Amino acid sequence: MLGLMQQWPLLCHKIVDHAARQHGHREIVTRSIEGPIMRTTYGELRERSLKVAQLLTRDGFKRGDRIGTLAWNTGRHLESWYGIMGMGGVYHTLNPRLFPEQIAWIMNHAEDQCLFVDLTFMPIVEAIAPAIQSLKKVIVFTDGAHMPETGLSNVVAYEDWLAGADGDFSWVELDENEACGMCYTSGTTGDPKGVVYSHRSNVLHAMIAALPDAMGVSSRDVILPVVPMFHANAWGLAQTAPLIGAKMVMPGAKMDGASIYELLDTEKVSFTAAVPTVWLMLLQYLEETGKKLPYLNKVVIGGSACPRAMTEKFEKNYGVEVVHAWGMTEMSPLGTLGSIKPEYVELTGDRLFDIKEKQGHSPFGVEMKITDDENIELPWDGKTFGRLKVRGPAVASGYYGGAGADQFDSEDWFDTGDVAHIDPNGYMQITDRAKDVIKSGGEWISTIDLENLAVGHPDVAEAAVIGIAHPKWDERPLLVIVRKQGKEPSREEILQFMEGKIAKWWMPDDVVFVEEIPHTATGKIQKTTLREQFRGYALPSA
Ligand code: ADP
Repeated sequence: MLGLMQQWPLLCHKIVDHAARQHGHREIVTRSIEGPIMRTTYGELRERSLKVAQLLTRDGFKRGDRIGTLAWNTGRHLESWYGIMGMGGVYHTLNPRLFPEQIAWIMNHAEDQCLFVDLTFMPIVEAIAPAIQSLKKVIVFTDGAHMPETGLSNVVAYEDWLAGADGDFSWVELDENEACGMCYTSGTTGDPKGVVYSHRSNVLHAMIAALPDAMGVSSRDVILPVVPMFHANAWGLAQTAPLIGAKMVMPGAKMDGASIYELLDTEKVSFTAAVPTVWLMLLQYLEETGKKLPYLNKVVIGGSACPRAMTEKFEKNYGVEVVHAWGMTEMSPLGTLGSIKPEYVELTGDRLFDIKEKQGHSPFGVEMKITDDENIELPWDGKTFGRLKVRGPAVASGYYGGAGADQFDSEDWFDTGDVAHIDPNGYMQITDRAKDVIKSGGEWISTIDLENLAVGHPDVAEAAVIGIAHPKWDERPLLVIVRKQGKEPSREEILQFMEGKIAKWWMPDDVVFVEEIPHTATGKIQKTTLREQFRGYALPSA
């Protein structure tokens, strides 16, 4: 027997329709690339994205076409997404921090037909456009007055282009399973792989993200997505904020401590999210200036492990709740969030921060398990660690073009490539990337645990641990350290600091000091490059 309920396809443009109707005057505030603060509303977002959809259709772009965006978080970028999705197109976010050749490779792979671009990235587009055979048009997010001289053909200023439409357009009727967005993983090993979101997965993800124990946001919040729209969908905030009707504050190109602080303060931001490096800059700025964060309630930190010291600083010094989160581009991206369950609500001090250091528990819509290398499921005892596998309605079922098929099994479990343990209350903690974990004498050593410990030393700015080949143990840990400016801790001081805080056989075999640790385009430590750099390194114990 079938239910007698309406078919109401989960389509992304329904989010913007809802936002315009229920929260039409709520603002979207942008630090524009041209400089001044610009303000629109959800009502205008809908009107302007209808114009985008109308014009893309008039320009000959079709349902299913991939339309690239190479842009910061701004109101215009948001309009382009909803316009692209509303005409049946597929927004394809490009990470400008990649090398231009990589961007060109990705655009060719996705066969992008059209590109929306910020002024900042015009030089990149001018360099790569001739190599992208599918590219028919470039739309620059600016007005005629700020339009630069360019040798590109078929290029137009966004505001001039938009002025040619009246917005008399109806969203295209689509199946909820049709593609609406695309984002490539950064491909630290091998070629980047395309993740393809559907309308349904984006809508469900936006609803899941809003849940009280996930991001826990409402129409009363003011949301500042510092995490870029080109980094795993701005963690879903580009859909979640309009879905719940929260005011949005878009940081544009400026992510330094002073600029972020100014927006937090003047716009009375209550909720924000980004990777740890952004928060390092903000905390440093606050310490230097003695400023406080009176309006901010909650910050979601993820993308890489959130250092315990950062959580403690936000909570103790500024009264801001930190929610540690883990996710992946392949998961739209939310996987787990560290809100506090009743089992832990009485905890205080160090014991509470022990829990907050974990990556958290999964909301409805994310199933997870840990297995050994033979795919045997491991217990949730908070100690045993294994390969982390996930499935759910906003988890990828494959990559574009069939790449990476071995990461998906016949029961839809996606192998995340992360290694983790899960405690009896469902809190997951990442201990490593499978390819980074150190295998010493048949046992695994977590490089993340060692790194977290080392950065707890007051003179250490950044730490990375890699496995070095060892004749007896296969691999042993080498600790690579960037010292804080003006500090000179010795190898012995660092080792002494770590001793007793971890199992003896986990202690690094050596410590080296470097000026800089290499990072990926999304700000993560690039272990492949580091391993290359220390290939053949002779450990004193070897
Ligand atoms: P990119 O590599 O392009 O940044 P993702 O954002 O999808 O792509 O990266 C996902 C990976 O980032 C995860 O598989 C995990 O290894 C790492 N990661 C994300 N959040 C955390 C976290 N809170 N702690 C530790 N690692 C994390």
